[in-house]
Amino acid sequence: MSSTGDAGAGRGQGTVVLVGAGLGGSLMAILLGRAGYTVRGFELRPDPRAGPPVGGRSINLALSARGLHALERVGLAPDVLAMAVPMRGRMIHAQDGRTAFQPYGTTAEQVNNSVSRGDLNVILLNAAERLPAVRFTFDHKCQGVDLDSGEVTVLDTRTGDSRGLTGDVVIGADGAFSVVRRQLFKRERFDYQQSFLSHGYKELTIPPAPGGGFALEANALHIWPRGGFMMIALPNRDGSFTCTLFLPFEGDHSFAALATEAKVERFFERVFPDATRLMPDLAAQYVTNPTGSMVTIRCSPWRHRGRIGLLGDACHAVVPFHGQGANAAFEDCLVLDDCIRRHAPDWETVFALFEGLRKENTDALADLSIANFEEMKHHTGSRLFRTKKALEKWLHRLFPTRFVPLYMMVSFTLIPYAEARRRARRQARALLSAGALAVILALLLVFWISRG
Ligand SMILES: Cc1cc2nc3c(=O)[nH]c(=O)nc-3n(C[C@H](O)[C@H](O)[C@H](O)COP(=O)(O)OP(=O)(O)OC[C@H]3O[C@@H](n4cnc5c(N)ncnc54)[C@H](O)[C@@H]3O)c2cc1C
Repeated sequence: MSSTGDAGAGRGQGTVVLVGAGLGGSLMAILLGRAGYTVRGFELRPDPRAGPPVGGRSINLALSARGLHALERVGLAPDVLAMAVPMRGRMIHAQDGRTAFQPYGTTAEQVNNSVSRGDLNVILLNAAERLPAVRFTFDHKCQGVDLDSGEVTVLDTRTGDSRGLTGDVVIGADGAFSVVRRQLFKRERFDYQQSFLSHGYKELTIPPAPGGGFALEANALHIWPRGGFMMIALPNRDGSFTCTLFLPFEGDHSFAALATEAKVERFFERVFPDATRLMPDLAAQYVTNPTGSMVTIRCSPWRHRGRIGLLGDACHAVVPFHGQGANAAFEDCLVLDDCIRRHAPDWETVFALFEGLRKENTDALADLSIANFEEMKHHTGSRLFRTKKALEKWLHRLFPTRFVPLYMMVSFTLIPYAEARRRARRQARALLSAGALAVILALLLVFWISRG
C-alpha cells in the first residue's frame, strides 16, 4: 500500500477527501471547488458518464423546492429543470380503474419534478469536474478511515491495489451504508439507530404508449393505494413511467407470497388492473428486477474532531415517502457550505455547527417520511383524506401565510423540517379548537331555536 500526502496541495485552502460521488457528494464537490478547495473524490461505482447506467436506487426521483434551491446556488437549476417532467399532483387509481387527481398546491409553481437520478448525477459531476481543483476517481472503494491521522484507505476495484490518502479533512458522502460512518463506531459515545421497514420495493416500467407519448397522465405522480401496500409511478421524459411497488417482505400480500410468474400476474390483474394492462412484460420485469429494502438511520455525532464529517444519507437516511432524501442531502450541502465559508479552517466548529443546524431537521424528516407512508398507502384514496386536503387548501387560500399545509411546507418552501412539523401541529390544534367551537355554537343555536 502506498501513501499519497495530498495535504496542502491546491490553492492554499487545503484538500478535502470526499468519499462518494452520488448526489450529495457531487454537489458538495462543486461547492468546495468554488470555495477554493482541492477536492479528491472517490466513488465505488464506475463513472456514470462512461457507460450504461448501473443498477441502484430509484431510476427517477422527485425534486422539489429545497433541491432546486441548492441547484440554483451553483447555476444548475435550468439544466436540471430542462430534463424534468413536472408533476402537479397525485393521480389516485382506485381498484375499479377510476382515477382522481389531487393537485399538490394552490399555484402553478407548486410542482414536484420527476428527474432521472443518473442524468442529475451526470450534470453535477460534469459541473464539478469543470472546476480545475476537483477530481473524482471512479471504481475506487473507501475501505476505512484512520480516526487519528484521517488517512483514507481506498481500493481500486479493477486492479485490487489499495492506497492511503490524506487531506486536511474527510467528508463521507457515501450513502446509507457509509463506510466512513462505520469508522465513527470505533469511538466512544457514538449513538446509532437503524430501522428497516417491513416493506421492500421493486421498480417496474410502464413503456411509452404504442404511438409514442405517455400511457398515463404525464404531469402527475400516480398512486395505487391499497391499504397494506401500494404502487406509485413517476413519469420519465421518454414517455415511460417508473413504477415502484411497495409490498411487505412477508405475509399474505408480500414479495415472499409472489413466488411464481403466474402468482405475480394474478395479483397484479386483481389489485392494479389498469396498470397491468400497460405492462406487457410485467412478470419478466418482476422476476428480473431486484427487491430493495428501506432504512431509516439516525446517528450522532456526525463528525470526529475537525477531521471527519458526514453528509446526506451517510448520517440521516430516510424512507422515500416524502420524496425528500436527495432534497435534504442537497440542503445539507448548502448549510455545510455556509458553515465552511464562515468558520474554515476551524473544521471542528464547521462540523459541529453543521450538525447543530441539521440534526433536529433531519430527525423530523425521518418521522415525517414514515408518517407519509401510512398516508399514501392507506388514506390517499379515501373521501376523508380528499376532504381534509380540500379544507387545508381552502384555509391556505384564506390565510396564505398563517395556514400552510404540512405537505406544502415540506415540498414547496425552505422552512426547516422541524419547524414545519411544529407549525403543522399548531395548525392542527387550532383547527381542532375551531371545529370544537363551531360544534358548540351549532349546538347552542339548535338549543336556542328549539326553545322557541
Ligand atoms: C426507492 C427510492 C426512492 C427515492 N426517491 C426519492 C425522491 O423522490 N426524492 C428524493 O429527494 N430522494 C429520494 N430518495 C432518496 C435519495 O435517493 C437519497 O436520499 C440520496 O440519493 C442521498 O444522497 P447521498 O449523496 O447522501 O447518497 P447516494 O446518492 O446514495 O450516494 C452515495 C454514493 O457513495 C458511493 N459509495 C458508497 N460506498 C462507498 C465506498 N465505500 N467508497 C466509495 N464510494 C462509496 C455510492 O456508490 C454512491 O454513489 C429515494 C430513495 C429510494 C431508495
